[in-house]
Amino acid sequence: MRWTQLLIPTLKEDPADAEAVSHRLMVRAGYVRQLAAGIYVYLPLGQRVMDRVTAIVREEMNRIGGQEITMPILHPAEIWQQTGRWDAIGGEMFRLKDRGGRDMCLAMTHEEVVAWLAAHEIRSYRELPQVWYQIQTKERDEARPKSGVLRTREFLMKDSYSLDRDEAGLDAAYERHRQAYTRIFARCGLKIHVVESDVGMMGGAGAHEFMAPSPAGEDSVALCPACGYAANTELARSRPAPQPAGGDAVPFGEVATPGARTIDEVCACLKVPPALTIKALMVMGPDGPAVALVRGDQHLHEKKLAHLIGPFRPAHREEVRQHAGVEAGFLGPVGLRLPMMADVCLESGRYVCGANTADAHLRGVVPGTDFAARFVDIHEVVPGDGCPRCGAPLRVDQVIEVGNIFKLGTKYSKSMGAVYLDEKGEEHPIVMGSYGIGPARIAAAAIEQGHDADGIIWPPAIAPFDVHLLPVNPKDAAMAAMADAAERALAGAGLAVLHDDREDRPGVKFKDADLLGVPVRITVGSRAVKEGVLEVRCRRTKAEVRVPPDGLVEAVRQMREAAAA
Ligand code: ATP
Ligand code: MG
Repeated sequence: MRWTQLLIPTLKEDPADAEAVSHRLMVRAGYVRQLAAGIYVYLPLGQRVMDRVTAIVREEMNRIGGQEITMPILHPAEIWQQTGRWDAIGGEMFRLKDRGGRDMCLAMTHEEVVAWLAAHEIRSYRELPQVWYQIQTKERDEARPKSGVLRTREFLMKDSYSLDRDEAGLDAAYERHRQAYTRIFARCGLKIHVVESDVGMMGGAGAHEFMAPSPAGEDSVALCPACGYAANTELARSRPAPQPAGGDAVPFGEVATPGARTIDEVCACLKVPPALTIKALMVMGPDGPAVALVRGDQHLHEKKLAHLIGPFRPAHREEVRQHAGVEAGFLGPVGLRLPMMADVCLESGRYVCGANTADAHLRGVVPGTDFAARFVDIHEVVPGDGCPRCGAPLRVDQVIEVGNIFKLGTKYSKSMGAVYLDEKGEEHPIVMGSYGIGPARIAAAAIEQGHDADGIIWPPAIAPFDVHLLPVNPKDAAMAAMADAAERALAGAGLAVLHDDREDRPGVKFKDADLLGVPVRITVGSRAVKEGVLEVRCRRTKAEVRVPPDGLVEAVRQMREAAAA
């Protein structure tokens, strides 16, 4: 394809609003344009990348027996009311009314439609198992659309759903998806961690996420290099470094700490390290006030706590005063009559904590003896914490979630009446699984993992073209003829060629070639005309070879393979 016949609006400067590398490069290299916050147009290059990603996804879904269908984006409210998600989901759902005043919404996901379809079409165990999938638009009014196509309000998703008669069937479908996903991400050239994850708004029995390591990620995962433990930090457990031997080894009693409210101030005042103190935080949950306790050198993980008590917010100063009779800085667990959640690492040791009296703290406090609490894992995992399985130091990586798999169970089939009859004519709810992948996130994550100062470095399998053919001066008839012949030969061999036939300065064209990130560049310069050799260059390694025209296809093939390795 000829550049002059395509829309490839490359920019000389970085867009001002882009923070993530993938955002900056996709805009600069002419892959996408933003229509409104979190709403994008895919230009020809962007579309070609998406097509390649979705082709890989389709192949692997078909390989595990997935049947492609298309479900609507516009939904009647009733199916969402039936599963309870019409009320459970807040501002993330786009809602509207039709001309008759009936409530409708735009699809955030399709469990409801799948369960509705199963309720109507599946009667007997003979019709199970099934795997249905689609590659379809989702609409979500994300609170913070950002980072280009990594988090948008309208995006493409491959979502599949497994229908089985029992847990064993679900386990098998889940495992097949796990393998299909592993193949998809490997073929797309992404580095991935597969981690245990929280089930979130989906509900259900178990879940894994496929995480692409990148500093642009909004998630983090805890990884054990020794035993392979891997979990989203939203649920990762860990063994923090133990408290210094003996803990706060002084007799139990109150000490004056005038004006010392924060952990740092208390530590400075009493000359103790933060690991000897307890941080008490009052929160307002669905059942009223509660107190979370973590060791002074640790941080409360809000999502872990929310998992235990439901959605909460930090208590205001007046609320702390009202429920504990003290200023927040002197709040402590001893004698407090409120539900208390203490982090597991407080189960042993002796501590300093707030005395529930102004300007005072308690010392030598033994959790479990001096106060009662529910011991739960609510601390944030930090690098170096011990692995919960083997004790080796954990790593914490920033990651982009590119896919996930959920064991849904019967939550949706029960509420939607999706049942089947077994051999004896007895009715059972269908056991479901749900599995998502974001093609745009795959593309953006590939850029986050593959770029340099000059531009994108695509994994060959998802690059918009296989070869970037660059005649230095297309006005030179001999050069143009050589480039045309090269294009024909490469296209004939099934390679997708971008032929930069622009009559621009060579410097501009070379810069654009690096920016676009096509894996292999072929330069047709005066040397090619004089000596009959073409220059073939790898975008990733910058390795160059010179080959005669009849060796071109083979040289490109070899270079693509090397670039994919
Ligand atoms: P996140 O936690 O990042 O919001 P999610 O858990 O809401 O993701 P799912 O609902 O499980 O994601 O969607 C499945 C896949 O769809 C994700 O793994 C991701 O690849 C993609 N995806 C989800 N939300 C977006 C979005 N706003 N923009 C682009 N892709 C998305
Ligand atoms: Mg989300």
